[in-house]
Amino acid sequence: MKLRRIIVASGNEHKIEEIKKILKGLPVEVVSKNEVGLEDFEVIEDGDTLEENAIKKAIEISQKIEGVVLADDTGLFVEKLGGEPGIYSARYAGENVTYLDNNKKLLKNLKGIKLEDRQAEFRTVIAIVLENKKIKTLTGICKGKIALEPKGDKGFGYDPLFIVDGYDRTFSQLGEEIKNEISHRVKALRKLRNSLEEILKDE
Ligand code: IMP
Repeated sequence: MKLRRIIVASGNEHKIEEIKKILKGLPVEVVSKNEVGLEDFEVIEDGDTLEENAIKKAIEISQKIEGVVLADDTGLFVEKLGGEPGIYSARYAGENVTYLDNNKKLLKNLKGIKLEDRQAEFRTVIAIVLENKKIKTLTGICKGKIALEPKGDKGFGYDPLFIVDGYDRTFSQLGEEIKNEISHRVKALRKLRNSLEEILKDE
């Protein structure tokens, strides 16, 4: 099998490492967009869904460079808020805000709602554009509830507020090791691995 290069449409080192770990053993070389000279190339995420944003990112990078391109988009969808913050998860409280600002806004919008009515899920969509320009998307979902107050000091984003189903603790309390076994991102990445195994086998 020929060695494939997978260009990840992100410069986030954590993401790249997580992807490398999951795809270990496959005949692929995972590189970030920075490593192929595209560090300044930004894609505007103006789609209405995670799928649209992930596909847009992957296509725009694939028009610049040879190889398989992978892009992802993640959002937190809270049932009582009609799916907010959803695709706006990174900028829920506005442009250039901190994770803390977003978490405060989420708690404010859920004020007075009991824990059992605070169902939410993280969704990650991964889009890949293959060398033949075919597109595939893979989705990972992790269900839980939004806590009444932040708990734990690990992780990032909404981790201190997300109580994972089956655990009585937030992602921040559980820590990276457990989170990386059960998270939305890891579920999407495992599907990606299966999918790549199939694709590469046929060639
Ligand atoms: P991105 O698509 O990976 O950039 O994620 C968009 C936003 O969703 C981030 O800025 C975070 O606020 C939030 N987010 C994504 N993944 C996670 C996670 O695993 N835990 C907590 N928040 C996350």
